[in-house]
Amino acid sequence: MSRFTDKVAIITGSSNGIGQATARLLASEGAKVTVTGRNAERLEETKNILLGAGVPEGNVLVVVGDITQESVQENLIKSTLDKFGKIDILVNNAGAGIPDAQGKSGVNQSIDTYHKTFELNVQSVIEMTQKARPHLAKTQGEIVNISSIGAGPAAQVASPYYSIAKAALDQYTRTAAIDLVPEGIRVNSVSPGAVSTGFSAVSRGLTEEKSKAFYDYLGAQRECIPRGFCAVPEDIAKVIAFLADRNASNYIIGQTIVADGGTSLILGAHAHGAKMMQAV
Ligand code: NDP
Repeated sequence: MSRFTDKVAIITGSSNGIGQATARLLASEGAKVTVTGRNAERLEETKNILLGAGVPEGNVLVVVGDITQESVQENLIKSTLDKFGKIDILVNNAGAGIPDAQGKSGVNQSIDTYHKTFELNVQSVIEMTQKARPHLAKTQGEIVNISSIGAGPAAQVASPYYSIAKAALDQYTRTAAIDLVPEGIRVNSVSPGAVSTGFSAVSRGLTEEKSKAFYDYLGAQRECIPRGFCAVPEDIAKVIAFLADRNASNYIIGQTIVADGGTSLILGAHAHGAKMMQAV
């Protein structure tokens, strides 16, 4: 028997990147998965990737829609229950840095950008948690939220609303974890550093080629990423699977696992250490 045999998982934002890799990993290890996102074509690709990995077609449900819409959230829950009969795991992964419509950065970004960023990265997670809660209580299930090291404590000048949204999400994870643990539901989160996905295309407006060049360059800067490379989605999917697996992580409640290749442990001064000593 595989790790997730008989488990049913909803993975939001699984038409690409980390969510897609998570759907593939969980489904390859026995889970029935609902994959979802706005892009129907990429969801079909996701389904084909799963089938190509040997996942039975009957174990995959595709739901197309915008996760910030209440009707889509309701449909996700209902159609998962209709097809698979229960929900064991909710991975709240859909998220993005929403580019400012007027191209502004820092504290000049518009309030509209702020609302859209919070709607996707925080509010949709709260709403999905509320809607999945009674079903997860029945199965004694797991919630894994996907945050970011952008949540702090380092400042994030270019995309302040994204980073404060993820900081809010971290506190929601802790709060929901304590609120829901009496019902047998565990809530935890993963905070990735740089991961080579479609994230840069969305939040930085880069083409696929430029996005790859961006991740290659960044990954090679050891003063930015001590590990020496940007993560691939599978690196994060494995951490998500660990937190979604009660056997593996039963006693972890309301925690955030940082998977960032050491990025958040270094300070700018470290990059100048040797030169500074020569200067004195
Ligand atoms: P991708 O852009 O590759 O994937 C994002 C996924 O979210 C896509 O499947 C996208 O689907 C979905 N999504 C975005 N907006 C919506 C929406 N309104 N409704 C439904 N689905 C939506 O990025 P990642 O895989 O990197 O991002 C996954 C998570 O990881 C996010 O929460 C992100 O904040 C977080 N993260 C990523 C990091 C990175 O460096 N990549 C670093 C730290 C955190 P579609 O376009 O089909 O709607």
